[in-house]
Amino acid sequence: MTEALVLKPKDYKSRVTPIWCPGCGHHAVLNALTKAMVALGKNKDETVMVSGIGCSSRLPAYIDSYGFHGVHGRGLAVAQGLKVARPDLTVVAMGGDGDGFSIGGNHFLHACRRNIDLTYIAMDNEVYGMTKGQASPTTPMDWDHSKLTPHGPGLRPFKPAAIALSAGAPWIARGYSGNPNQMAKLISEAMEFPGFSFIHVLSQCITYCPEQTDWKQVVHETEAEVVTDMAQAATLFLAEDGMQTGLLFRQQRPCWPPPAQAPQHNAIAVLAKSLRA
Ligand code: SF4
Ligand code: MG
Repeated sequence: MTEALVLKPKDYKSRVTPIWCPGCGHHAVLNALTKAMVALGKNKDETVMVSGIGCSSRLPAYIDSYGFHGVHGRGLAVAQGLKVARPDLTVVAMGGDGDGFSIGGNHFLHACRRNIDLTYIAMDNEVYGMTKGQASPTTPMDWDHSKLTPHGPGLRPFKPAAIALSAGAPWIARGYSGNPNQMAKLISEAMEFPGFSFIHVLSQCITYCPEQTDWKQVVHETEAEVVTDMAQAATLFLAEDGMQTGLLFRQQRPCWPPPAQAPQHNAIAVLAKSLRA
């Protein structure tokens, strides 16, 4: 009898060495994602990683699965089209705060409300890292480290969890790059959830925001039960400090594809057949 092949997290890493700065939070997200794939027993050829542009969007190159490193802000558009066409695949979209909440903000809103069954990991370091440290939609108002905003951007930062909730996301969690084991658990749960699952990850940019190493003093795991009521969740997300981690909101809603149909339906095969007819 042939023994089942048991894969380890390192087996899900590609031969491409990450070029992220030493100490960048995205290393921890990569490690957590490979741990989650082991935990779920995901086959490499059943899984697709899709991203936009930015430091964090390099991640699909570092995973040994199918992947698509797209254009700026369009990762979710590609990921949704892919999942509709190939519902048999597990689709994980990812990117940073600039990619996902600025140029990709509209795709983010509509992915939340469409509730297509995929996972979106937003690695938020409150800065455009790849283009050398400009203010992003989540930068604090008084962050004055960039010459382009010498007195700080002066704008209220985007609240990703609150916006995801109001746009209709049924599953919302927050992770932290300093706690990769918790993040691996959250990613596993997100990938298993039938519907759009959004993980907001506090992922430090050590190079342009070295002060983010202080996050470890203020990040705290939620001790509360996961909220399932919209009104309660709205109060939570508008009042919170943005530093609590864990699964914060979950509500079962009809999604595409319906879970029972997911393995059978294949829109590309149907389309190809109709074109041949
Ligand atoms: Fe990470 Fe910042 Fe370096 Fe980009 S610039 S790799 S986000 S530490
Ligand atoms: Mg960023």
